[in-house]
Amino acid sequence: MNQLQEIAAQLLKHNYLILTGHAIPDGDCIGSMLGLHCALQNLGKKVEMILEDPVPAIYHYLPHWEDIRPPVISERHGFAAVYLDCSDQCRVSEEVRQVLQNAAVTINIDHHRDNSRFGDYYYVNPEAAATAEIIYELLHIMQIPIGQDVANCLYAGIIMDTGRFMNSNTTSLTMKVASELLQKGASVDLARNNLFESKPLAEVLLLKHALGHLTLSEDGKIAAMWLTLEEVKQAGAMDYHPEGIINYARMIAGVEVGLLFREVGIDQVKVGFRSRGRVDVASLAREFGGGGHRLAAGASFTGSLESVIALVLDRVKDVC
Ligand code: AMP
Repeated sequence: MNQLQEIAAQLLKHNYLILTGHAIPDGDCIGSMLGLHCALQNLGKKVEMILEDPVPAIYHYLPHWEDIRPPVISERHGFAAVYLDCSDQCRVSEEVRQVLQNAAVTINIDHHRDNSRFGDYYYVNPEAAATAEIIYELLHIMQIPIGQDVANCLYAGIIMDTGRFMNSNTTSLTMKVASELLQKGASVDLARNNLFESKPLAEVLLLKHALGHLTLSEDGKIAAMWLTLEEVKQAGAMDYHPEGIINYARMIAGVEVGLLFREVGIDQVKVGFRSRGRVDVASLAREFGGGGHRLAAGASFTGSLESVIALVLDRVKDVC
């Protein structure tokens, strides 16, 4: 089943819901969770939110962010599990899956084309710029009025996934939804100040390290940057998701694919892929067990930073 109307009916029917999103959460994941949480709570429902990773500080201006908790295994029954912005159940940790395994019903709402369509009810719309855009439509179907709190959350999700309305996923509908969220009280100043102008120094220092490693392929079509675990530790930035750093690789004239390699543990490397347009980086990332969108994707690797860089660069050169 894949109708938003059916999902709306399920959400209205259940009085106990647990929401989750993908690992290393981004603005769309967090904004969608918080927005839906606020709206359902306003209906008097019991709503829990679980994520294995911490909520990055830039989202701490959003209401109820501190109610997003790490998963704690305990007996829970009769709840609806709602996965948001998760292309696959594997994108959440084993602990989160364990908490959600006894769900009366599992609902999957996402905008990733490669979503595995898991769950009893799913709605996957790759044309939506952000999952937050889908949540807006869902709340409309449920006839839940959108107040300022919900509006700020969904606006943050849209801003972050569209790269401030500059990514090619931005459509006229995205602009219309954003405009309606502003009418309902979302604050442009609050979003800008918090999302883009309140970065901890440690996070900005990561950019210095990443740019220090910037390397271009001979033909100038691939730009790669990396961050070692030591650099992240030294900068005191272990908890920061270096959102936006990767864009510096893609912004160079002539670059088709920008890459950011980030050591996140011993022999654990997270790779971000960004394409200017010609190369489908989602299918590249999928070859390595990852996924994402055509122009923005990611994958996680086991191996040394050097070996992962060599492996990925080799493959990207084939398609550039
Ligand atoms: P990032 O580079 O982390 O900002 O991710 C870019 C896009 O790729 C987002 O839509 C992510 O949800 C997706 N993505 C990142 N890492 C993975 C992964 N390991 N598996 C599937 N999708 C991913």
